[in-house]
Amino acid sequence: MRQSAARLTGTYADGQSSQSLPAVLLVDASSARLDAGDREVIFALEDLAAESRIGNTPRVIRLNGSGRFVTKDHDQLDQLVTSGIVQGENKGWIHRLESHWHTVLMSICVLVVGTTAAFIWGIPAVAKAAAMALPHETTAAVAKLSMDTIEQILGGESELDTERQDELRARFMASATTYAPGLPVRVEFRDGGILGANALALPDGTIVFTDELVELAEDDNELAAVFAHELGHVVYRHSLRQIIQGSIISIAASVYFGDVTAGASVLAAAPVWLADMAYSRDMELEADDYAYDFMSAEGLAPHHFSDILQRLTTAHYEEAGATEEDGEGKDYFSSHPATSERVARFEAR
Ligand SMILES: [Zn+2]
Repeated sequence: MRQSAARLTGTYADGQSSQSLPAVLLVDASSARLDAGDREVIFALEDLAAESRIGNTPRVIRLNGSGRFVTKDHDQLDQLVTSGIVQGENKGWIHRLESHWHTVLMSICVLVVGTTAAFIWGIPAVAKAAAMALPHETTAAVAKLSMDTIEQILGGESELDTERQDELRARFMASATTYAPGLPVRVEFRDGGILGANALALPDGTIVFTDELVELAEDDNELAAVFAHELGHVVYRHSLRQIIQGSIISIAASVYFGDVTAGASVLAAAPVWLADMAYSRDMELEADDYAYDFMSAEGLAPHHFSDILQRLTTAHYEEAGATEEDGEGKDYFSSHPATSERVARFEAR
């Protein structure tokens, strides 16, 4: 008796009667022998064809017109097929999907990457489209709410002289009227409170300068440069986009976690997104580009912008007790483009 390479147990049906008999299929390197009760048949290996594996359901081997053998000896049959002794289609997609862990892992990766992409590109894109499409009345309503919340983190009324406020306001409004006509702009001054030296652009075109920023500037041209940058945020409706983006994320979070307080806590952080430091890198660079063009039209040298930007960054890091080098990646500067990058871009133009 020849030594068998594999011994598969299962059932045999001859295809003529509906009867299934308990059977054994012995396979060696050259042929196969089927033992089914009193019936014994020898097959050439070419006569055997294993159908595709579907998970762990019993698998069929077709016996070239002489019926079929069904087995659950998956490991042995897989080996016979893999080594080419029994011909078979071992690459059924359902089986692959069900039993190959790397396919499952790949599916999870695709899902994760897809979700991440939706967060990184999808939500900002939706927010941008929505922000640009909203009528001015809506932006004014949102701005009213924003101003109310911002007042809570700002330090209250400005302590600058009324004359000084009026002087700066007149200059900024004149350049806005000349170089960005039709844009609804309003200039306000406030004590910076925890925001310190900063400037903010609200959805309705209100631009807020903090006293600390005015004091930090060595030249009014620097403040005009900051104004131009904030105007860029107004033109591109960056603050509205931040608010809409944050709302989508908070709504998605509350749906996902089934927890409305998650949404509420994100909404509570809304005023923070309005601070200039909270804008995304792309938004800052977009506003920088706008500022550059606006200043060129005004005949204002680009260094006024880079000068105040550098001083502002140094001031914020000093306040935080760190230098820009070791501060990279810390607190809210992390989401902000590096000052050195922005200055370089500005000077390269
Ligand atoms: Zn900005």
